Amino acid sequence: MLKRILLITLIVTVSGVVFFSLLSANVYYNSSLDFAKNQLTRYMEEFEEDEPFDEAGAAALSEKLFGARVTYILFDGTVVADSDGAASDYPNHLGRQEVSAALGSGAGFAVRSSASVNADMIYYCVRVNARLVSGDGTVYDDGALVRISMPTDSLWSIFVDSLPTLLWFLILVVLFSLFFTWLSTSYILKPVEKLTREMSLSGGRHVSTKYRELQPIVKLMNGMSDEIKDKVKKLNADSELEILILDSMENGMVIFRDPKDVILINRTAAKLLEYEENEPVRLFVEDAEVSAALAGNETASVSHKFGEREYMLRFTKVEETRVLLMTDVTEAVSAARSKNEFIANVTHEMNTPLTSIKGFAELIGSGNLDNERVSEAAATILRQSERLSNLIRSIINFSAIDNDELPPYDVDLTALVKETAAPFGPRIAERNISFTLEAEEGVIILSRRERMIEILNNLISNGIRYNKDGGDLKITLTGGKIPELCVSDTGVGISEENLPHIFSRFYTVDKSHNGTGGGFGLGLAIVRKLCTRAGWKLSVESRLGEGTTFKIRFFPPKIL
Ligand code: ADP
Repeated sequence: MLKRILLITLIVTVSGVVFFSLLSANVYYNSSLDFAKNQLTRYMEEFEEDEPFDEAGAAALSEKLFGARVTYILFDGTVVADSDGAASDYPNHLGRQEVSAALGSGAGFAVRSSASVNADMIYYCVRVNARLVSGDGTVYDDGALVRISMPTDSLWSIFVDSLPTLLWFLILVVLFSLFFTWLSTSYILKPVEKLTREMSLSGGRHVSTKYRELQPIVKLMNGMSDEIKDKVKKLNADSELEILILDSMENGMVIFRDPKDVILINRTAAKLLEYEENEPVRLFVEDAEVSAALAGNETASVSHKFGEREYMLRFTKVEETRVLLMTDVTEAVSAARSKNEFIANVTHEMNTPLTSIKGFAELIGSGNLDNERVSEAAATILRQSERLSNLIRSIINFSAIDNDELPPYDVDLTALVKETAAPFGPRIAERNISFTLEAEEGVIILSRRERMIEILNNLISNGIRYNKDGGDLKITLTGGKIPELCVSDTGVGISEENLPHIFSRFYTVDKSHNGTGGGFGLGLAIVRKLCTRAGWKLSVESRLGEGTTFKIRFFPPKIL
């Protein structure tokens, strides 16, 4: 701005000085012309009519007039005499401006460049109406014209003459005006500079000024600063919200250009990828499968394990930017795995009785068996069929639990335990087991009869099946805030190594009993599933060779 002002000052000063010089030269020229005219008028008064009207007279008058040129001209324009001599060489002067003016009005001035004297000349011509006589006796009865002239400065010559002075003057004026302009501009701009400095240091706070002229700007700036603050606040809130949303995502998300240039990464992804700022994402560089996915331009999915959890990494590319979405698929994968295992187990369990049924049926069909063998084979077929239908029932029961949404109700557990245990009497007697039932009266729990029967049947039948001949089987039921059911036996017991697995589907400790006297390893899995869904605590204590105790603590349902 200062430069601009100085440039404008320079232009204005130079043009001002030049204009002023031209104006002054013109004024000077006009006043010198007036002065010359006055002088010529005074000179003309020196002309005397009785002096000889010839070259000598003209020369004498010129001498008297300090060398001014004197010309005598007749009314027809003929130059009779000239103080510069050689009058006869002059052309007719009738056309000259001052001559025609004198002929017309008696007197006339003219200024022009004279070719004869090579300078600007001022002419004054007067008509003399008197009898004039030359030295050789020539008489001019009607008079003649007398012209006096002298050199004068032209406007241009005045200007050229003043140029050196003018230049010095110009330089001085320019220097002075530039200096004072700089001084005054700096002084004027000082408050503006101060205001700018204050604003830059204000950190968004309002600023003020005592200068009235600057107050509208200050008001505008303060308003703008408020507006910016509001916008920044809103942007911050927006970006905080975005970060909050991104960070609360269970899925990991990374937006990046290359492993070193990460544009955005949410908390989950940063944790899983052990991301450190300004460091390349190690997985992108070190994992062969991920690197291969990144090398292509297509959308690619790679499965990767982070500790215990399995993630699906899906890479998509938008121009030069890549987006990685990390989804936890641990549950889905394990569900798929357990489904496959379940199917494999079911087919395996079914295969044994089916093979047996098929084999014996073929034997009977062959007709080579005697009656006794046929009835033995038929009995085996019947046993295996029952086993197969037991298996199918167990599987159906097991799967049905997941879809059982029937409402629970108060079940008299005391009565139900007695009811369920009763049919096991013959089997208990068969094994010579001493059975005790200690049930507190009126223990009520919130469940469904069929669910409780399933649990009790499984625990009691196991207590018999895995008991020793002549062993003990005891059922205890206590009430109170948290009712408890214990089924304990003094049977074969379970080793420490097998104990954690007994509630898993199709898990049987002694594989040899599989398909024979033992079950399919679904009973305890069903018990656990029912307890888990009801919110009850199922636990087991066992010592190999000494016996086993299953305990269920019936916690009341949680009120949501
Ligand atoms: P199964 O139909 O084979 O009995 P369960 O799921 O009921 O299947 O039991 C799983 C395994 O746990 C059994 O194979 C058995 O080895 C063991 N088990 C269950 N109850 C007892 C018990 N009372 N005493 C000893 N072992 C038991």
